[in-house]
Amino acid sequence: MQSGSITASIDLPTVADVLRWLPTFCILDCFNVTILGCGSAKPTLRHSPSAQVVNFRDNRFLVDCGEGVQVGLCRSQVPLGRIGHIFLSHLHGDHCLGLVGLISTLGLGQRTGEVVIHGPADTERIFRPLFEFFCPQLSMEVRFEAHDTQHSSVIYESANMRVTTIPLHHRVPCSGFLFEELPRPRHLLVERCRELDIPVAYYRGITLGNDWTDPASGQVVPNDLLTSPGTPGRKYAYCSDTIYAESIIPIIEGADLLYHEATYAHADVVKARQRGHSTALQAAQIAQKAHVGQLVLGHYSAQFLSAEMERPLLDEARTVFANTILANERMVVEVGESTKGQSTKDEI
Ligand SMILES: [Zn+2]
Ligand SMILES: [Zn+2]
Repeated sequence: MQSGSITASIDLPTVADVLRWLPTFCILDCFNVTILGCGSAKPTLRHSPSAQVVNFRDNRFLVDCGEGVQVGLCRSQVPLGRIGHIFLSHLHGDHCLGLVGLISTLGLGQRTGEVVIHGPADTERIFRPLFEFFCPQLSMEVRFEAHDTQHSSVIYESANMRVTTIPLHHRVPCSGFLFEELPRPRHLLVERCRELDIPVAYYRGITLGNDWTDPASGQVVPNDLLTSPGTPGRKYAYCSDTIYAESIIPIIEGADLLYHEATYAHADVVKARQRGHSTALQAAQIAQKAHVGQLVLGHYSAQFLSAEMERPLLDEARTVFANTILANERMVVEVGESTKGQSTKDEI
């Protein structure tokens, strides 16, 4: 192996180049959450039952699948064909009764390959017969992956994304999900590499963690002298439905964005506990103790009939955790860019 002195000439991109690449870069780097439904069990004219889409680099993950999910997907212009994984937190109807209709629709189209449904142990036993009755001739495979709701575990992993379960405490087996971008490669210190006459062909390996051995002298240059730490991966934690549970804090610690149920205001803390739910204040306490970047409240009780009636949930949460917003249908929240949370519906 020869270590030669290679002079790399780099042409800087023009403004036109940057503008041309920007849309592609934004898609390749995107990580956001679209709220399709943030109501609770009882239907209202204001909110749909739980469902949301996590968009990570143009891969769409459906999280919970309440009634009306297809309408929500259409309204938010989410392409159905891009949904390959569906994550069900638990088997209460407000989190899964949209599943048969959605699978039926997916199977009517040109969709091929497979759709994977991640859920508690009984998910396949309950839904497989329904699929066989209502949609026996699907164009794609449906595979079920059961997960343990008692212990946190990794249930999905790709080259740059990992999904881990968050055991929750509800009336039935229930898990939240942590969507975690894997750490990005370290940044190359180009000037340092040039000083050491390291061939450009080795730069990629160095960003992935390789040391450099000078072939002439045999001297090893440790990787941390050639690189600086890469950008930390972004994290999104979804927690619905649950009582106040500090046991989740180590799992969601430092998440950029937390969606936490807030079915009731704290005046109803006893009722919340009895029904396996949390108050807005408790959600904020979890956000504060877990040092998350931003909190989104949702899973509102049907007793809140207007934006004005939901406002106290936001107010009480902000007394503990200032960077809190209220979920609303069609809202898109960026993960890791907390100032960009925005709603296309009426904001309060
Ligand atoms: Zn629920
Ligand atoms: Zn529930």
